[in-house]
Amino acid sequence: MGLWQKFINGVSRFMYGRNGYDQLSLALLWTAVVLNVVRLFLSVDSVVGLVLNFITTVLLILALLRMFSRNLPQRRAENAWFLQKIWWPVKGRLGGIRRQSQDKDHKYFTCPGCGAICRVPRGKGKIVITCPRCGRQIHGKS
Ligand SMILES: [Zn+2]
Repeated sequence: MGLWQKFINGVSRFMYGRNGYDQLSLALLWTAVVLNVVRLFLSVDSVVGLVLNFITTVLLILALLRMFSRNLPQRRAENAWFLQKIWWPVKGRLGGIRRQSQDKDHKYFTCPGCGAICRVPRGKGKIVITCPRCGRQIHGKS
């Protein structure tokens, strides 16, 4: 058995019964990385830089604590909450934006009343859209 294999075995033995990484930990890590990159563009002794430094440190510690935690029910509950409130809505919205930018045959309007997204064919000139959800009228150019 090679040294590398021993190392891998040791790590997996250590991680046995622990939470490991989940979406919430990944999000914490990536937020920390992004904030750290932003901090690179700031001067070292600026207040914003210090605050960002503090936030990234806290995020990293939180992510590590969650990964090595043995309290699985609590960590799973946190991750489930995060998935429901943040991960899936953001993912759905990003997917929607990508689909809309690829769709050249339709134009999308967001209802100012209820936030519903209304799709209309392009190239019809000035139009009035009636929101199918709340009935509010949207004036726009398709
Ligand atoms: Zn509406």
